[in-house]
Amino acid sequence: DAVLELERVGLAIGGARILKEVSLAVPAGELLGVIGPNGAGKTTLFNVVSGVVRPTEGRVVLDGRDVTREPVHRRAAAGLGRTFQTSSLFPALTVLENVRLAAQADLGAAASVFRTPRPTDAATERARDALADVGLADAGDRLAGGLAHGEKRKVEIAMLIAMEPRVILLDEPMAGVGSADVPALAEVIRGLHRGGRTVLMVEHHLDVVLGLADRIAVMHHGELLAVDTPEAVMANPTVQSAYLGEGM
Ligand code: ADP
Ligand code: MG
Ligand code: MG
Repeated sequence: DAVLELERVGLAIGGARILKEVSLAVPAGELLGVIGPNGAGKTTLFNVVSGVVRPTEGRVVLDGRDVTREPVHRRAAAGLGRTFQTSSLFPALTVLENVRLAAQADLGAAASVFRTPRPTDAATERARDALADVGLADAGDRLAGGLAHGEKRKVEIAMLIAMEPRVILLDEPMAGVGSADVPALAEVIRGLHRGGRTVLMVEHHLDVVLGLADRIAVMHHGELLAVDTPEAVMANPTVQSAYLGEGM
């Protein structure tokens, strides 16, 4: 069964059609790569799914429930989590404090983060587990602002894990990460997927997407050109001609 369905989703802004009749069903546990040239509408698609932007046409269905008109926080409470293209960490807080904020937001106790942390706190435990999941068990006391790019991205993923989402949207999780850190980050994403979570990932590192994804969705000028296995997508003549001369 599909955990996420888009039904003929369209978005028009000031006469420009940013998304055009995008229909897509994502089965539970799938890792779907989303590729396409800059400006194709990938981030906008994530904004529509997460509730940041309301589509002008069509429906967004989460676990069989129409959430098209629901705000971001309701979708988050229903198990939808996302990262953004730019970093969302508080640089002056420690790594553990950042991740604990996310856990507490999910536990509905955000106000208590500014009190002395208690080791038995459920949020602290969740945060520590999430940091261990991304290989940063020993980085909890470091300041988030002092981390390398690749580490920041891992902490952002730990923040997601701490919110216990079932459906995760990753928007260019490798952006700004040095090539030496790409394999480790890919492993973290593979781990998210192994946990049974459904993952949608926009990524420009084609080799990474092709290696990780069960299927790949190709966006082009606001349209979904193809959704297929990595092999079939790369062999698709429509996809090939859409990219001709445009680069990724
Ligand atoms: P991608 O993530 O694939 O690079 P985006 O989803 O960011 O592409 O953008 C798709 C297109 O929609 C771009 O042409 C962008 O300029 C346009 N766009 C996105 N958001 C808005 C907005 N709020 N108002 C006007 N145009 C927008
Ligand atoms: Mg882009
Ligand atoms: Mg984008």
